[in-house]
Amino acid sequence: MSATLPVQKNDYIDVVFEDLTHDGAGVAKVDGYPLFVPNGLPGEKAKIKVVKVNKNYGYGRLMELYEQSPERVDAPCPIYKQCGGCQLQYLSYRGQLKAKEKQVRDVMTRIGKLDNIKIHPVLGMEDPWHYRNKSQVPVGEREGGLVAGFYQKRSHDIIDMETCLIQQSKNDEVIQKVKKICEKYGIAAYDEIRHKGVLRHIMARCGYATGEVMVVLVTRTDDLPFRKKIVADIVAQIEGVKSVIQNVNDRKTNVILGEKTRVLWGRDVIYDSIGDIKFAISSKSFYQVNPEQTKVLYEKALEYAELTGTETVIDAYCGIGTISLFLAQKAKKVYGVEIVPDAIEDARRNADLNGITNVEFAVGKAEEVIPAWYEEGITADVLVVDPPRKGCDETLLETIIAMKPRKVVYVSCNPATLARDLRILEDGGYRTLEVQPVDMFPHTTHVECVAKLELNL
Ligand code: SAH
Repeated sequence: MSATLPVQKNDYIDVVFEDLTHDGAGVAKVDGYPLFVPNGLPGEKAKIKVVKVNKNYGYGRLMELYEQSPERVDAPCPIYKQCGGCQLQYLSYRGQLKAKEKQVRDVMTRIGKLDNIKIHPVLGMEDPWHYRNKSQVPVGEREGGLVAGFYQKRSHDIIDMETCLIQQSKNDEVIQKVKKICEKYGIAAYDEIRHKGVLRHIMARCGYATGEVMVVLVTRTDDLPFRKKIVADIVAQIEGVKSVIQNVNDRKTNVILGEKTRVLWGRDVIYDSIGDIKFAISSKSFYQVNPEQTKVLYEKALEYAELTGTETVIDAYCGIGTISLFLAQKAKKVYGVEIVPDAIEDARRNADLNGITNVEFAVGKAEEVIPAWYEEGITADVLVVDPPRKGCDETLLETIIAMKPRKVVYVSCNPATLARDLRILEDGGYRTLEVQPVDMFPHTTHVECVAKLELNL
């Protein structure tokens, strides 16, 4: 290794962690050279082993803690170490919210060059456990029985899981019961190496406001032996079940759902509601996984939109129309655009379900449809975007700058791309008034934000 680096691989060194990365590792610096150490917390003194060195940064392993952060807690989940799903469980919830706020502040300054904007403390959950409304677990076999749980970190070994602390407990119950029922009828688990066997995944979805349950059995084969008996047992044993679905996925892929779905019992959807809006959710629909915080997020978006009933709104990246329908109650007209055709079908169905008639949905890329609308003369008073992690396409940002909606509400699941896009909008004549981070995924490193922008006049 290069002699110019201040540390070498396999060195044991004493460090003090200065920071926490966005993916939950402690950062220590040796002569300015950063080392990322999983499980380290700011302020802690520790002995680490250097396990990898690159040109500009390296990685270490925590060997011994000399001084603990007051925010360090014992991870309450018994499978925390093997799973890797909730990287921040060793940090108190209060500490997590502070770390997420700092993460947002840091990127706003570093990437967005936005020094004087108001960034609010993260809106967290009162009880940050059992929040997820959807569980999808791979199924395997061990000693003749079925196991269902999660892939061990960096491997494809399935670890059996009885409970997941961030799942609504109903989902745990569904997974356990369905696993036992399938075991009783001798259903073979899918073997991904030989591409044999039947049951690949069990998915459970439950309506937070309604308690309705959907069970999805993802199988490799079209045939599901003992189908009728399995369904009868599921219906008898699981309270609240309204829909039992078989999804067939015969491809060699780690994508969970296949193309073909068949209703084995009940409806093809379950219902849930957020605020006053009711949603029909099918097995394939994208639907926010933390319903309690989704309401917080959408209410903030609605507040930032400051609608009076006379506005035309565009909702870009609208998914199944959740934000669009929320806004439609307070706007004159809402146009939603989304790339996935099934999602737009859901969006239209959800508009009908709620008797909302002042919305119009289009399938396509936001960066193509919105410029086309603009050419046709459709403009917005308020424009909402909720893009995937990579942020908004530049063409879309250019169109916003040309179209000049009075307000832009930016909902983002990635603070770094949010900061980048806010900078582009600022340079194009907008001012970022405030940013509200919302904790949609407690104990994971993710943080959602809503930003409010206004056109400089
Ligand atoms: N606003 C919705 C969904 C947000 S997730 C909600 O709150 O539920 C982001 C959405 O953007 C996904 O539904 C994804 O399919 C969609 N998407 C991704 N790229 C897109 C593009 N270029 N144009 C339009 N939609 C896109």
